[in-house]
Amino acid sequence: MKILIAEDDTPSRLVFGAILRKLGYTVTAVVDGRKAWRAWQQDHYSLLISDWMMPDIDGLELCKMIRAEHSLQYTYIILLTSMDGKGSYLEGMKAGADDFITKPIDEEYLAARLHVAQRILALHKTLHLQATHDFLTGLWNRGAIMDNLQKELMRAERWRTPISVIMVDLDHFKQVNDTYGHSTGDALLCEAASRIGALLRPSDRAGRYGGEEFLIIVPNCARDNALNLAERIRRSISETPVHIQSESISMTISLSVATHSGEDSATLIGAADKALYRAKKAGRNRVEFSE
Ligand code: GH3
Ligand code: MG
Ligand code: MG
Ligand code: MG
Repeated sequence: MKILIAEDDTPSRLVFGAILRKLGYTVTAVVDGRKAWRAWQQDHYSLLISDWMMPDIDGLELCKMIRAEHSLQYTYIILLTSMDGKGSYLEGMKAGADDFITKPIDEEYLAARLHVAQRILALHKTLHLQATHDFLTGLWNRGAIMDNLQKELMRAERWRTPISVIMVDLDHFKQVNDTYGHSTGDALLCEAASRIGALLRPSDRAGRYGGEEFLIIVPNCARDNALNLAERIRRSISETPVHIQSESISMTISLSVATHSGEDSATLIGAADKALYRAKKAGRNRVEFSE
Protein backbone atom coordinates (compact mmCIF):
# COMPACT_ATOMS: atom_id res chain seq x y z
CA MET A 1 0.00 0.00 0.00
CA LYS A 2 1.19 3.52 -0.82
CA ILE A 3 1.22 6.07 1.97
CA LEU A 4 1.47 9.83 1.61
CA ILE A 5 3.14 11.69 4.47
CA ALA A 6 2.82 15.43 4.91
CA GLU A 7 5.10 16.71 7.65
CA ASP A 8 7.05 19.98 7.75
CA ASP A 9 9.33 18.90 10.56
CA THR A 10 12.28 17.17 8.89
CA PRO A 11 13.48 14.87 11.70
CA SER A 12 9.94 13.66 12.29
CA ARG A 13 9.33 13.17 8.56
CA LEU A 14 12.50 11.09 8.22
CA VAL A 15 11.67 8.93 11.21
CA PHE A 16 8.14 8.35 9.90
CA GLY A 17 9.39 7.44 6.44
CA ALA A 18 11.97 5.04 7.85
CA ILE A 19 9.48 3.26 10.11
CA LEU A 20 6.85 2.92 7.39
CA ARG A 21 9.34 1.59 4.85
CA LYS A 22 10.57 -0.89 7.42
CA LEU A 23 6.96 -2.01 7.85
CA GLY A 24 6.85 -2.66 4.10
CA TYR A 25 4.91 0.37 2.88
CA THR A 26 5.73 2.49 -0.16
CA VAL A 27 6.07 6.06 1.04
CA THR A 28 5.88 9.48 -0.57
CA ALA A 29 6.91 12.20 1.86
CA VAL A 30 6.23 15.90 1.27
CA VAL A 31 6.97 18.96 3.38
CA ASP A 32 3.67 20.85 3.39
CA GLY A 33 -0.06 20.65 2.79
CA ARG A 34 0.00 22.18 -0.66
CA LYS A 35 2.51 19.63 -1.94
CA ALA A 36 0.45 16.89 -0.31
CA TRP A 37 -2.68 18.16 -2.06
CA ARG A 38 -0.90 18.09 -5.43
CA ALA A 39 0.48 14.61 -4.85
CA TRP A 40 -2.93 13.34 -3.74
CA GLN A 41 -4.68 14.82 -6.77
CA GLN A 42 -2.25 13.14 -9.11
CA ASP A 43 -2.27 9.78 -7.49
CA HIS A 44 -5.18 9.31 -5.07
CA TYR A 45 -3.37 7.74 -2.13
CA SER A 46 -5.53 5.51 0.00
CA LEU A 47 -3.69 6.51 3.17
CA LEU A 48 -2.54 9.94 4.23
CA ILE A 49 -0.61 10.69 7.40
CA SER A 50 -0.58 14.43 7.83
CA ASP A 51 0.87 16.72 10.38
CA TRP A 52 -1.68 19.16 11.81
CA MET A 53 0.49 22.29 12.03
CA MET A 54 2.05 23.08 8.68
CA PRO A 55 2.64 26.35 6.84
CA ASP A 56 0.16 27.42 4.13
CA ILE A 57 -2.33 24.53 3.97
CA ASP A 58 -2.40 22.80 7.36
CA GLY A 59 -3.50 19.26 8.13
CA LEU A 60 -7.05 20.26 9.02
CA GLU A 61 -7.52 22.18 5.77
CA LEU A 62 -5.98 19.32 3.77
CA CYS A 63 -8.48 16.92 5.37
CA LYS A 64 -11.40 19.16 4.38
CA MET A 65 -10.12 19.53 0.82
CA ILE A 66 -9.79 15.78 0.34
CA ARG A 67 -13.20 15.07 1.85
CA ALA A 68 -14.80 17.66 -0.47
CA GLU A 69 -13.56 15.76 -3.52
CA HIS A 70 -15.84 12.71 -3.40
CA SER A 71 -13.14 10.59 -4.95
CA LEU A 72 -14.07 7.05 -5.89
CA GLN A 73 -11.33 5.67 -3.72
CA TYR A 74 -11.48 6.33 -0.01
CA THR A 75 -8.53 8.04 1.63
CA TYR A 76 -7.95 7.07 5.23
CA ILE A 77 -6.51 10.09 7.01
CA ILE A 78 -4.42 10.01 10.16
CA LEU A 79 -3.65 13.39 11.68
CA LEU A 80 -0.36 13.81 13.47
CA THR A 81 -0.43 16.10 16.38
CA SER A 82 1.44 17.12 19.44
CA MET A 83 -1.66 18.99 20.59
CA ASP A 84 -4.07 17.14 22.70
CA GLY A 85 -7.34 17.78 24.44
CA LYS A 86 -10.92 17.24 23.46
CA GLY A 87 -11.26 20.44 21.39
CA SER A 88 -8.61 19.66 18.79
CA TYR A 89 -9.66 16.03 18.62
CA LEU A 90 -13.25 16.99 17.78
CA GLU A 91 -12.11 19.60 15.29
CA GLY A 92 -9.98 17.04 13.48
CA MET A 93 -12.76 14.47 13.36
CA LYS A 94 -15.17 17.07 12.03
CA ALA A 95 -12.71 17.97 9.28
CA GLY A 96 -12.75 14.33 8.19
CA ALA A 97 -9.81 12.68 9.93
CA ASP A 98 -10.18 8.97 10.71
CA ASP A 99 -7.57 8.75 13.42
CA PHE A 100 -4.92 10.64 15.37
CA ILE A 101 -1.38 9.88 16.30
CA THR A 102 0.45 12.01 18.80
CA LYS A 103 4.11 12.82 18.46
CA PRO A 104 6.68 11.57 19.29
CA ILE A 105 5.91 8.43 17.36
CA ASP A 106 5.79 5.01 18.91
CA GLU A 107 6.57 2.38 16.31
CA GLU A 108 4.31 -0.37 17.68
CA TYR A 109 1.49 2.06 18.18
CA LEU A 110 1.84 3.26 14.58
CA ALA A 111 1.88 -0.32 13.22
CA ALA A 112 -1.32 -1.08 15.14
CA ARG A 113 -3.09 2.01 13.80
CA LEU A 114 -2.05 1.11 10.26
CA HIS A 115 -3.45 -2.35 10.77
CA VAL A 116 -6.83 -0.79 11.55
CA ALA A 117 -6.52 1.53 8.55
CA GLN A 118 -5.89 -1.40 6.24
CA ARG A 119 -8.88 -3.29 7.57
CA ILE A 120 -11.19 -0.31 7.02
CA LEU A 121 -9.76 0.36 3.55
CA ALA A 122 -10.21 -3.27 2.49
CA LEU A 123 -13.80 -3.19 3.71
CA HIS A 124 -14.44 0.05 1.87
CA LYS A 125 -12.97 -1.37 -1.30
CA THR A 126 -15.23 -4.43 -1.17
CA LEU A 127 -18.34 -2.41 -0.44
CA HIS A 128 -17.52 0.12 -3.12
CA LEU A 129 -16.99 -2.62 -5.68
CA GLN A 130 -20.30 -4.24 -4.76
CA ALA A 131 -22.14 -0.92 -4.85
CA THR A 132 -20.86 0.10 -8.26
CA HIS A 133 -20.56 -3.16 -10.20
CA ASP A 134 -22.94 -5.64 -11.68
CA PHE A 135 -22.58 -8.94 -9.92
CA LEU A 136 -23.17 -11.11 -13.02
CA THR A 137 -21.02 -9.47 -15.69
CA GLY A 138 -18.54 -7.51 -13.59
CA LEU A 139 -19.32 -4.35 -15.57
CA TRP A 140 -20.36 -1.08 -13.91
CA ASN A 141 -23.94 -1.18 -12.70
CA ARG A 142 -26.60 1.21 -13.91
CA GLY A 143 -26.13 3.80 -11.13
CA ALA A 144 -22.37 3.86 -11.56
CA ILE A 145 -22.38 4.03 -15.36
CA MET A 146 -24.82 6.97 -15.20
CA ASP A 147 -22.56 8.69 -12.63
CA ASN A 148 -19.65 8.08 -14.97
CA LEU A 149 -21.60 9.50 -17.86
CA GLN A 150 -22.42 12.71 -16.02
CA LYS A 151 -18.78 13.18 -15.04
CA GLU A 152 -17.52 12.43 -18.56
CA LEU A 153 -20.02 14.84 -20.13
CA MET A 154 -18.82 17.59 -17.78
CA ARG A 155 -15.25 16.80 -18.64
CA ALA A 156 -15.99 16.79 -22.37
CA GLU A 157 -17.68 20.18 -22.09
CA ARG A 158 -14.79 21.61 -20.10
CA TRP A 159 -12.16 20.42 -22.57
CA ARG A 160 -14.38 20.74 -25.64
CA THR A 161 -13.76 17.19 -26.70
CA PRO A 162 -16.26 14.92 -28.43
CA ILE A 163 -17.91 12.08 -26.56
CA SER A 164 -20.30 9.35 -27.68
CA VAL A 165 -22.39 6.66 -26.08
CA ILE A 166 -23.18 3.26 -27.53
CA MET A 167 -26.26 1.38 -26.40
CA VAL A 168 -26.38 -2.37 -26.88
CA ASP A 169 -29.38 -4.68 -26.61
CA LEU A 170 -29.23 -8.42 -27.15
CA ASP A 171 -31.61 -9.59 -29.86
CA HIS A 172 -34.50 -11.94 -29.06
CA PHE A 173 -32.99 -12.69 -25.71
CA LYS A 174 -36.24 -13.86 -24.23
CA GLN A 175 -36.29 -16.58 -26.86
CA VAL A 176 -32.69 -17.52 -26.00
CA ASN A 177 -33.72 -17.96 -22.36
CA ASP A 178 -36.77 -19.95 -23.38
CA THR A 179 -34.73 -22.25 -25.61
CA TYR A 180 -31.59 -22.81 -23.52
CA GLY A 181 -32.62 -21.86 -19.99
CA HIS A 182 -31.89 -18.91 -17.77
CA SER A 183 -28.44 -19.97 -16.62
CA THR A 184 -27.25 -20.36 -20.22
CA GLY A 185 -28.78 -16.91 -20.80
CA ASP A 186 -26.67 -15.61 -17.92
CA ALA A 187 -23.53 -17.17 -19.42
CA LEU A 188 -24.31 -15.53 -22.76
CA LEU A 189 -24.72 -12.16 -21.06
CA CYS A 190 -21.28 -12.60 -19.48
CA GLU A 191 -19.75 -13.58 -22.80
CA ALA A 192 -21.28 -10.54 -24.50
CA ALA A 193 -19.92 -8.31 -21.72
CA SER A 194 -16.47 -9.80 -22.06
CA ARG A 195 -16.39 -9.43 -25.86
CA ILE A 196 -17.47 -5.81 -25.49
CA GLY A 197 -14.80 -5.19 -22.85
CA ALA A 198 -12.10 -6.67 -25.07
CA LEU A 199 -12.68 -3.99 -27.71
CA LEU A 200 -12.62 -0.98 -25.39
CA ARG A 201 -9.80 1.38 -24.50
CA PRO A 202 -8.89 2.00 -20.86
CA SER A 203 -10.70 5.36 -20.90
CA ASP A 204 -13.95 3.81 -22.21
CA ARG A 205 -16.56 2.57 -19.74
CA ALA A 206 -19.10 -0.19 -20.12
CA GLY A 207 -22.05 -0.76 -17.82
CA ARG A 208 -25.01 -3.06 -17.55
CA TYR A 209 -27.80 -0.60 -18.17
CA GLY A 210 -30.70 -3.04 -17.94
CA GLY A 211 -31.32 -6.79 -17.99
CA GLU A 212 -29.81 -7.46 -21.41
CA GLU A 213 -28.78 -3.91 -22.24
CA PHE A 214 -25.35 -2.37 -22.00
CA LEU A 215 -24.27 1.24 -22.12
CA ILE A 216 -20.79 2.15 -23.31
CA ILE A 217 -19.26 5.59 -22.79
CA VAL A 218 -16.62 6.49 -25.33
CA PRO A 219 -14.77 9.70 -24.43
CA ASN A 220 -12.76 11.55 -27.09
CA CYS A 221 -14.79 9.92 -29.77
CA ALA A 222 -16.93 11.59 -32.43
CA ARG A 223 -19.70 9.84 -34.31
CA ASP A 224 -17.72 8.12 -37.09
CA ASN A 225 -15.29 6.48 -34.71
CA ALA A 226 -18.11 5.48 -32.38
CA LEU A 227 -19.98 3.91 -35.30
CA ASN A 228 -16.86 2.07 -36.21
CA LEU A 229 -16.47 0.72 -32.69
CA ALA A 230 -20.16 -0.22 -32.51
CA GLU A 231 -19.81 -2.15 -35.75
CA ARG A 232 -16.76 -4.01 -34.44
CA ILE A 233 -18.67 -4.89 -31.28
CA ARG A 234 -21.61 -6.11 -33.36
CA ARG A 235 -19.35 -8.38 -35.41
CA SER A 236 -17.39 -9.67 -32.42
CA ILE A 237 -20.65 -11.00 -31.02
CA SER A 238 -22.50 -12.13 -34.13
CA GLU A 239 -19.61 -13.72 -36.01
CA THR A 240 -18.45 -16.21 -33.40
CA PRO A 241 -20.99 -18.52 -31.73
CA VAL A 242 -20.66 -19.20 -28.01
CA HIS A 243 -19.92 -22.78 -26.94
CA ILE A 244 -21.74 -23.74 -23.77
CA GLN A 245 -22.13 -27.36 -22.65
CA SER A 246 -21.84 -28.91 -26.10
CA GLU A 247 -24.18 -26.31 -27.58
CA SER A 248 -23.00 -23.78 -30.10
CA ILE A 249 -25.20 -20.72 -29.68
CA SER A 250 -25.28 -17.80 -32.08
CA MET A 251 -26.20 -14.37 -30.72
CA THR A 252 -26.83 -11.06 -32.34
CA ILE A 253 -27.11 -7.59 -30.88
CA SER A 254 -28.61 -4.29 -31.92
CA LEU A 255 -26.70 -1.11 -31.21
CA SER A 256 -27.13 2.63 -31.34
CA VAL A 257 -24.72 5.53 -31.22
CA ALA A 258 -25.47 9.00 -29.89
CA THR A 259 -22.84 11.72 -29.91
CA HIS A 260 -22.93 14.52 -27.38
CA SER A 261 -23.70 18.03 -28.55
CA GLY A 262 -24.42 19.95 -25.36
CA GLU A 263 -27.42 17.99 -24.08
CA ASP A 264 -27.67 16.47 -20.59
CA SER A 265 -27.16 12.77 -19.90
CA ALA A 266 -30.88 11.90 -19.86
CA THR A 267 -31.44 13.53 -23.27
CA LEU A 268 -28.39 11.82 -24.73
CA ILE A 269 -29.58 8.45 -23.46
CA GLY A 270 -33.06 9.19 -24.79
CA ALA A 271 -31.58 9.82 -28.24
CA ALA A 272 -29.61 6.56 -28.08
CA ASP A 273 -32.79 4.76 -27.00
CA LYS A 274 -34.73 6.03 -29.97
CA ALA A 275 -31.99 5.02 -32.39
CA LEU A 276 -31.86 1.59 -30.77
CA TYR A 277 -35.58 1.22 -31.31
CA ARG A 278 -35.00 1.97 -35.01
CA ALA A 279 -32.29 -0.69 -35.16
CA LYS A 280 -34.76 -3.21 -33.73
CA LYS A 281 -37.51 -2.17 -36.12
CA ALA A 282 -35.17 -2.33 -39.10
CA GLY A 283 -34.51 -6.02 -38.43
CA ARG A 284 -31.95 -6.17 -35.55
CA ASN A 285 -28.26 -7.19 -35.73
CA ARG A 286 -27.36 -3.67 -36.87
CA VAL A 287 -26.11 -0.25 -35.76
CA GLU A 288 -28.16 2.95 -35.97
CA PHE A 289 -27.18 6.44 -34.89
CA SER A 290 -28.96 9.46 -33.55
CA GLU A 291 -28.96 12.45 -35.96
P1 GH3 B 1 -35.49 -7.73 -28.62
O1 GH3 B 1 -34.73 -8.30 -29.75
O2 GH3 B 1 -36.66 -6.92 -29.06
O3 GH3 B 1 -34.64 -6.98 -27.67
O4 GH3 B 1 -36.10 -8.98 -27.85
P2 GH3 B 1 -35.79 -9.47 -26.41
O5 GH3 B 1 -36.43 -10.81 -26.23
O6 GH3 B 1 -34.34 -9.39 -26.13
O7 GH3 B 1 -36.47 -8.33 -25.55
P3 GH3 B 1 -37.36 -8.32 -24.28
O8 GH3 B 1 -37.21 -6.98 -23.67
O9 GH3 B 1 -38.76 -8.77 -24.62
O10 GH3 B 1 -36.75 -9.40 -23.32
C1 GH3 B 1 -35.56 -9.21 -22.65
C2 GH3 B 1 -35.22 -10.53 -22.04
O11 GH3 B 1 -33.99 -10.48 -21.37
C3 GH3 B 1 -36.25 -10.99 -21.07
C4 GH3 B 1 -35.48 -11.40 -19.85
O12 GH3 B 1 -35.86 -12.65 -19.41
C5 GH3 B 1 -34.06 -11.43 -20.33
N1 GH3 B 1 -33.14 -11.05 -19.25
C6 GH3 B 1 -33.07 -9.86 -18.62
N2 GH3 B 1 -32.14 -9.92 -17.64
C7 GH3 B 1 -31.63 -11.18 -17.65
C8 GH3 B 1 -30.64 -11.84 -16.87
O13 GH3 B 1 -30.04 -11.30 -15.94
N3 GH3 B 1 -30.38 -13.13 -17.18
C9 GH3 B 1 -31.03 -13.78 -18.19
N4 GH3 B 1 -30.72 -15.05 -18.43
N5 GH3 B 1 -31.97 -13.18 -18.92
C10 GH3 B 1 -32.27 -11.89 -18.67
MG1 MG C 1 4.26 20.83 11.73
MG1 MG D 1 -33.98 -4.89 -23.79
MG1 MG E 1 -33.32 -7.55 -26.23
